[in-house]
Amino acid sequence: MKTMDYQFHLRAYERASLLSLLCGIVVVSTVFFPHMFVTLRVDRIGVDAVSIAVILGWALTSGMIISWIALRLQRRSRELGLYCLLCQASLVGFPQRRLRVTGRCSHCGAQVLEPNACPFSAANAG
Ligand SMILES: [Zn+2]
Repeated sequence: MKTMDYQFHLRAYERASLLSLLCGIVVVSTVFFPHMFVTLRVDRIGVDAVSIAVILGWALTSGMIISWIALRLQRRSRELGLYCLLCQASLVGFPQRRLRVTGRCSHCGAQVLEPNACPFSAANAG
């Protein structure tokens, strides 16, 4: 993969990550509704099975949605080719720092970016 392609795909992945983060925030912020329902119900009736079911239902549903968002983001990274072809490690997040400098996978050391295309590689230092 060329460095320019990697950077272009990384930007697309970062946009998808930002959108996923916003979706996650929206999902978590919906806790307001079951919280209000349960608070009012506990004030009137006390803790009962319905209150517990509402809280557990919200936790389960939001957990499933957040898991789906995380899986979708991982799938997007695969679609963009942001993984090592040799060891299947992700090339986003913390490993990308070493990748940008050396052009190599931080997990297995395989050359992921074209050596001549990596402006900061050791091969081009001299
Ligand atoms: Zn690798």
